[in-house]
Amino acid sequence: MHAINNKSLVSFMVSDREEGLAVYNPATQELLGYVPVSTEQEISDKVSRAHSAQKDWSKLAGKQRSEILQRWFQLIIEYQNDLAHLLTLEQGKPLAESKAEVFYGASFIEWFAEEAKRSYGETIPAPTPSKRMLTIKQPVGVACAITPWNFPIAMITRKAAPALAAGCSFIVKPSELTPLSAFAIAELAYQAGVPQDILQVVVGNSAEEVGRIFTSHPLIRKLSFTGSTRVGRILMRQSAEGIKRTSLELGGNAPFIVFDDADIDAAVEGAIASKFRNAGQTCICANRFYVHSKVYDEFIAKFDTAVNQLKLGNGLEEGVNIGPLITPQAKQNIEALIESALKQGAKKVSTQKPQKGQFLLPVILRDVTQSMDIVSQEIFGPVAPVIAFENEQQLIGMANDTIHGLAAYFFTNNISRVWKVAEALEYGMVGINDSMISSEVAPFGGIKQSGIGREGARQGMDEYMDIKYLCFGGL
Ligand code: NAP
Repeated sequence: MHAINNKSLVSFMVSDREEGLAVYNPATQELLGYVPVSTEQEISDKVSRAHSAQKDWSKLAGKQRSEILQRWFQLIIEYQNDLAHLLTLEQGKPLAESKAEVFYGASFIEWFAEEAKRSYGETIPAPTPSKRMLTIKQPVGVACAITPWNFPIAMITRKAAPALAAGCSFIVKPSELTPLSAFAIAELAYQAGVPQDILQVVVGNSAEEVGRIFTSHPLIRKLSFTGSTRVGRILMRQSAEGIKRTSLELGGNAPFIVFDDADIDAAVEGAIASKFRNAGQTCICANRFYVHSKVYDEFIAKFDTAVNQLKLGNGLEEGVNIGPLITPQAKQNIEALIESALKQGAKKVSTQKPQKGQFLLPVILRDVTQSMDIVSQEIFGPVAPVIAFENEQQLIGMANDTIHGLAAYFFTNNISRVWKVAEALEYGMVGINDSMISSEVAPFGGIKQSGIGREGARQGMDEYMDIKYLCFGGL
């Protein structure tokens, strides 16, 4: 096992050996360092080791696994500043957001450390006097995961913690854009006592190659994926051959709705938090705004004032609210969507100066209509298209008019509308007068083409457990 000793986690992770995969800072394009790349054979060997090690790990009492996970949680909290710094370096988000992600990521480890002790089965009243029936829960075995770059720590701990708590071994492929944080939190897990073969981080020659191994290796029983709907479809198709269990956390297209009876200031505050966190690169961020025509101008004026106060820059600088986009390609894609909306009749509320590098100033678009590309596609950037609506029925039709079903938000002070609209929205998660809905205690996940399964909450561990039914006869 490596020892971090007094060395900072950042210098520990950022190796300057010129081999493996190079990792860059999206704010400065500076080379940060390299991480090791595994060949197909090496990944297959890792799976075999994960398979052997899982037998002993699953035999530990839930309480013993819980104690190890608790130590992992404590170490992440101890190294919070280093981890946050590393996150900002490789992902670009402002330091305050990186700190929030470290806590959010750690919260899943703490939560599932507690849940490790509570994987209850049930007794079932038998239909005949001579039988007794019950269920037990058992770990699925080797679980693997593929995660994105937008939350490089939290998207891993949300899967690794329940897998380890359940008694599975776990192999994760982080995004090649942000692998440093993944190796860093794994290092802390080893320091906490997680065996090296029980939690492994792999980077392969390509994402496609690792995806193929994860979906076809006979010793892997479960794949959990967070990323785009496009890649989710590929992995689900590939998993079909071996009937592997899959959990999919995919893309979103969240509507953010403001009714005419809403507290407009609260709605603006919620809109800023939802739309511009992580420069708009979150799966649950507001993708399109629907504002009642009676309050349309008022909302846009207040929203614009708040947006103009946001500071763009390197996430390590004091006071920065919006960092760079993850790649030059991401910036081009977003600019193309803005251009297309302008051609289709939308108007920019304020004029933005072009920014150098991977930075893009926030944009509010007004006079947007439902048929524009920017409404039907996931923007994944700091752009807020605003559509006016006249009545509830029309609004619900537009809000549900998407293949996605991850998160939705609405602001109103009408209690009967709260229930009707919450029930009518076809989404896995709905924020009512609130836009910060993520929490380790609540089930996170989508419906329609936004995914299958739930992460966090008491449901999160079920994704890594099989139910076995035991029938005792001849009594
Ligand atoms: P992505 O392109 O789908 O990539 C996600 C992960 O899949 C990365 O590790 C990527 O590797 C890997 N990958 C890409 N192509 C693959 C293939 N053919 N086979 C196997 N793996 C493959 O998504 P992204 O751009 O990183 O992330 C943004 C997307 O994630 C958005 O759609 C967002 O909504 C979604 N997301 C969803 C949630 C949720 O909880 N529902 C949370 C966060 C993000 P490389 O990066 O190394 O190429």
